[in-house]
Amino acid sequence: MAASNGNCFVCGETTGKIAMKNHIIKKHGNGDEECCLIKAEGAYDKNYWLLFSVPLDAPMSSVDKFLRRIWCECCGHLSAFRYGGREFGKTRKVSALEIGSTLYYEYDFGSTTEILLTVVDKISRPKQREKVQLLARNVPLADICDNCGKPAAYVDAWERELLCAECAAKVDEDALLPVVNSPRCGECAYDGEQDIWTFDVSRLKQLQD
Ligand SMILES: [Zn+2]
Ligand SMILES: [Zn+2]
Ligand SMILES: [Zn+2]
Repeated sequence: MAASNGNCFVCGETTGKIAMKNHIIKKHGNGDEECCLIKAEGAYDKNYWLLFSVPLDAPMSSVDKFLRRIWCECCGHLSAFRYGGREFGKTRKVSALEIGSTLYYEYDFGSTTEILLTVVDKISRPKQREKVQLLARNVPLADICDNCGKPAAYVDAWERELLCAECAAKVDEDALLPVVNSPRCGECAYDGEQDIWTFDVSRLKQLQD
Protein backbone atom coordinates (compact mmCIF):
# COMPACT_ATOMS: atom_id res chain seq x y z
CA MET A 1 0.00 0.00 0.00
CA ALA A 2 1.29 3.45 -0.93
CA ALA A 3 2.07 5.78 1.97
CA SER A 4 -0.91 7.85 2.96
CA ASN A 5 -1.35 11.46 1.89
CA GLY A 6 -2.08 14.19 4.36
CA ASN A 7 -3.82 17.53 4.67
CA CYS A 8 -2.19 20.80 5.66
CA PHE A 9 -4.26 22.22 8.52
CA VAL A 10 -2.97 25.73 7.80
CA CYS A 11 -3.82 26.18 4.11
CA GLY A 12 -5.66 23.00 3.03
CA GLU A 13 -3.02 21.57 0.67
CA THR A 14 -3.07 17.77 0.20
CA THR A 15 0.21 15.95 -0.42
CA GLY A 16 2.48 13.09 0.69
CA LYS A 17 4.37 12.96 3.96
CA ILE A 18 7.79 14.14 2.79
CA ALA A 19 6.40 16.82 0.50
CA MET A 20 4.22 18.02 3.38
CA LYS A 21 7.24 18.42 5.67
CA ASN A 22 8.92 20.61 3.04
CA HIS A 23 5.68 22.50 2.44
CA ILE A 24 5.30 23.33 6.15
CA ILE A 25 8.90 24.51 6.48
CA LYS A 26 8.67 26.63 3.34
CA LYS A 27 5.18 28.09 3.60
CA HIS A 28 4.32 28.07 7.29
CA GLY A 29 7.68 28.54 9.01
CA ASN A 30 7.30 32.23 9.79
CA GLY A 31 6.24 33.74 13.08
CA ASP A 32 7.56 35.21 16.29
CA GLU A 33 7.84 32.04 18.34
CA GLU A 34 10.72 29.57 18.02
CA CYS A 35 9.35 26.05 17.79
CA CYS A 36 10.33 22.49 17.06
CA LEU A 37 8.61 20.88 14.11
CA ILE A 38 7.86 17.31 15.20
CA LYS A 39 6.61 14.38 13.14
CA ALA A 40 4.60 11.67 14.88
CA GLU A 41 3.99 8.26 13.29
CA GLY A 42 2.41 5.05 14.44
CA ALA A 43 5.46 2.91 15.28
CA TYR A 44 3.84 -0.09 13.55
CA ASP A 45 1.75 1.70 10.95
CA LYS A 46 3.34 4.81 9.56
CA ASN A 47 0.29 5.60 7.45
CA TYR A 48 -0.85 7.36 10.61
CA TRP A 49 1.16 10.55 10.85
CA LEU A 50 1.08 14.09 12.18
CA LEU A 51 3.24 17.16 11.85
CA PHE A 52 2.99 19.65 14.70
CA SER A 53 4.91 22.52 16.20
CA VAL A 54 5.68 23.09 19.86
CA PRO A 55 7.54 26.07 21.37
CA LEU A 56 11.14 25.37 22.42
CA ASP A 57 10.45 26.42 26.00
CA ALA A 58 7.37 24.17 26.36
CA PRO A 59 7.61 21.07 28.59
CA MET A 60 7.18 17.57 27.16
CA SER A 61 3.93 17.37 29.13
CA SER A 62 2.33 19.59 26.47
CA VAL A 63 3.28 17.00 23.81
CA ASP A 64 1.89 14.24 26.07
CA LYS A 65 -1.38 16.15 26.44
CA PHE A 66 -1.67 16.69 22.69
CA LEU A 67 -0.93 13.06 21.75
CA ARG A 68 -3.46 11.88 24.31
CA ARG A 69 -6.18 14.09 22.86
CA ILE A 70 -5.60 13.48 19.17
CA TRP A 71 -4.58 9.81 19.17
CA CYS A 72 -4.58 7.98 22.49
CA GLU A 73 -6.76 8.82 25.48
CA CYS A 74 -9.23 6.16 26.53
CA CYS A 75 -9.07 5.46 30.29
CA GLY A 76 -6.34 7.74 31.64
CA HIS A 77 -3.54 5.18 31.25
CA LEU A 78 0.09 5.97 32.05
CA SER A 79 2.41 7.23 29.34
CA ALA A 80 6.12 7.93 28.88
CA PHE A 81 8.69 9.29 26.46
CA ARG A 82 11.84 7.31 25.75
CA TYR A 83 14.83 9.18 24.33
CA GLY A 84 18.27 7.69 23.80
CA GLY A 85 17.24 4.44 25.52
CA ARG A 86 15.98 6.00 28.76
CA GLU A 87 12.88 7.74 30.03
CA PHE A 88 12.69 11.42 29.14
CA GLY A 89 10.70 13.18 31.87
CA LYS A 90 7.63 15.24 31.04
CA THR A 91 8.99 18.31 32.82
CA ARG A 92 11.95 18.38 30.42
CA LYS A 93 11.89 21.17 27.85
CA VAL A 94 11.37 20.52 24.16
CA SER A 95 14.60 22.49 23.55
CA ALA A 96 16.55 19.55 25.05
CA LEU A 97 15.70 17.47 21.96
CA GLU A 98 18.30 17.41 19.23
CA ILE A 99 17.18 18.29 15.70
CA GLY A 100 17.14 15.15 13.55
CA SER A 101 16.82 12.77 16.50
CA THR A 102 13.98 10.37 17.25
CA LEU A 103 12.18 9.35 20.41
CA TYR A 104 9.30 7.10 21.37
CA TYR A 105 6.06 7.84 23.12
CA GLU A 106 4.20 5.00 24.79
CA TYR A 107 0.63 5.25 25.97
CA ASP A 108 -0.82 2.51 28.20
CA PHE A 109 1.63 -0.14 29.36
CA GLY A 110 -0.93 -2.95 28.95
CA SER A 111 -2.45 -2.54 25.51
CA THR A 112 0.38 -0.24 24.46
CA THR A 113 0.25 2.25 21.62
CA GLU A 114 3.76 3.11 20.49
CA ILE A 115 4.44 6.32 18.61
CA LEU A 116 7.66 7.29 16.88
CA LEU A 117 8.52 10.98 17.13
CA THR A 118 11.07 12.65 14.87
CA VAL A 119 12.42 16.10 15.70
CA VAL A 120 12.36 17.40 12.13
CA ASP A 121 13.58 20.98 12.33
CA LYS A 122 13.33 24.32 14.05
CA ILE A 123 10.68 26.65 12.65
CA SER A 124 9.02 29.84 13.85
CA ARG A 125 5.28 30.02 14.17
CA PRO A 126 2.74 32.67 15.12
CA LYS A 127 2.16 32.56 18.87
CA GLN A 128 -1.07 30.82 19.92
CA ARG A 129 -2.83 29.98 23.13
CA GLU A 130 -2.50 26.21 22.62
CA LYS A 131 1.18 25.31 22.84
CA VAL A 132 1.01 22.47 20.34
CA GLN A 133 -0.28 23.38 16.90
CA LEU A 134 -1.37 20.63 14.54
CA LEU A 135 0.00 21.54 11.09
CA ALA A 136 -0.72 18.41 9.05
CA ARG A 137 -2.32 15.00 9.44
CA ASN A 138 -2.80 11.90 7.27
CA VAL A 139 -6.16 11.67 5.52
CA PRO A 140 -8.32 8.95 7.12
CA LEU A 141 -7.22 5.54 5.80
CA ALA A 142 -9.62 3.76 3.47
CA ASP A 143 -10.04 0.65 5.65
CA ILE A 144 -12.32 -2.03 4.25
CA CYS A 145 -14.44 -4.74 5.86
CA ASP A 146 -12.53 -8.05 6.23
CA ASN A 147 -15.77 -9.89 5.45
CA CYS A 148 -17.21 -8.20 2.40
CA GLY A 149 -14.91 -5.41 1.24
CA LYS A 150 -17.26 -2.49 1.94
CA PRO A 151 -15.85 0.54 3.81
CA ALA A 152 -15.12 -0.44 7.42
CA ALA A 153 -16.86 1.40 10.23
CA TYR A 154 -15.92 -0.79 13.21
CA VAL A 155 -13.15 -2.92 14.61
CA ASP A 156 -14.04 -6.21 16.24
CA ALA A 157 -11.44 -5.88 19.00
CA TRP A 158 -11.83 -9.54 20.06
CA GLU A 159 -11.37 -11.07 16.61
CA ARG A 160 -9.06 -8.26 15.40
CA GLU A 161 -11.21 -7.74 12.31
CA LEU A 162 -12.41 -4.67 10.46
CA LEU A 163 -16.16 -4.67 9.79
CA CYS A 164 -18.67 -2.59 7.85
CA ALA A 165 -21.86 -1.49 9.63
CA GLU A 166 -23.83 -4.40 8.17
CA CYS A 167 -21.37 -7.13 9.18
CA ALA A 168 -20.86 -5.44 12.58
CA ALA A 169 -24.58 -5.85 13.33
CA LYS A 170 -24.01 -9.63 13.41
CA VAL A 171 -21.36 -9.69 16.17
CA ASP A 172 -21.43 -9.01 19.95
CA GLU A 173 -21.54 -5.25 20.29
CA ASP A 174 -19.26 -5.35 23.35
CA ALA A 175 -16.47 -6.31 20.96
CA LEU A 176 -16.97 -3.30 18.70
CA LEU A 177 -14.96 -0.10 18.55
CA PRO A 178 -15.33 2.60 15.89
CA VAL A 179 -12.77 2.97 13.13
CA VAL A 180 -10.86 6.15 13.96
CA ASN A 181 -7.89 7.97 12.43
CA SER A 182 -5.35 6.87 15.02
CA PRO A 183 -2.73 4.16 15.55
CA ARG A 184 -4.73 3.29 18.69
CA CYS A 185 -7.74 2.27 16.61
CA GLY A 186 -9.20 -0.96 18.05
CA GLU A 187 -7.22 -0.89 21.33
CA CYS A 188 -8.74 -0.99 24.84
CA ALA A 189 -11.76 1.34 24.80
CA TYR A 190 -10.37 3.91 22.39
CA ASP A 191 -13.07 5.73 20.40
CA GLY A 192 -11.39 9.02 19.45
CA GLU A 193 -13.72 11.02 21.66
CA GLN A 194 -11.22 13.81 22.41
CA ASP A 195 -9.96 14.17 18.85
CA ILE A 196 -11.19 17.58 17.69
CA TRP A 197 -8.86 17.83 14.68
CA THR A 198 -11.05 16.83 11.76
CA PHE A 199 -9.89 18.27 8.45
CA ASP A 200 -12.51 20.64 7.08
CA VAL A 201 -11.42 22.57 4.02
CA SER A 202 -14.50 24.83 4.07
CA ARG A 203 -13.64 25.98 7.58
CA LEU A 204 -10.07 26.76 6.51
CA LYS A 205 -11.39 28.82 3.60
CA GLN A 206 -13.61 30.83 5.93
CA LEU A 207 -10.62 31.55 8.16
CA GLN A 208 -8.66 32.86 5.20
CA ASP A 209 -11.45 35.06 3.76
ZN1 LIG B 1 -0.14 24.64 3.95
ZN1 LIG C 1 -8.08 2.17 28.02
ZN1 LIG D 1 -18.92 -6.17 5.69
